Amino acid sequence: MTFPANRLGDQGQRYEVRAEGYPEEGVNVIVWTDDRTAADHMAGDVAQAPSCTQTWVVDRDFTCGECGASCDVGAPDRKDTRCPNCCPDHEFENDDGWAFCVNCGEEAPPDYFEEDPE
Ligand SMILES: [Zn+2]
Ligand SMILES: [Zn+2]
Repeated sequence: MTFPANRLGDQGQRYEVRAEGYPEEGVNVIVWTDDRTAADHMAGDVAQAPSCTQTWVVDRDFTCGECGASCDVGAPDRKDTRCPNCCPDHEFENDDGWAFCVNCGEEAPPDYFEEDPE
């Protein structure tokens, strides 16, 4: 799964703290921070919550596996991350009126919506 960074309201902060089972069922994003120590700390604190089954910190500093450019989205396997320039094949996915390439995070061209109203 990939996450277009500019849709999450995180203002480009590097680390994302996630928790499972807290405060709601499933996986929750707790906070974003640029400070790894703070992120680890927060994850440790949240892990104390009774309903919380696990916490982890996601490093969102994605770089292209081809050219090393920084990327908005990362592949589950980091070396597969591609920037828009190196993306072999844009595959746009419409999510509530926002369409992004699932491989590189590139925004779909305006005519994407005209061709595919789904
Ligand atoms: Zn690249
Ligand atoms: Zn792409």
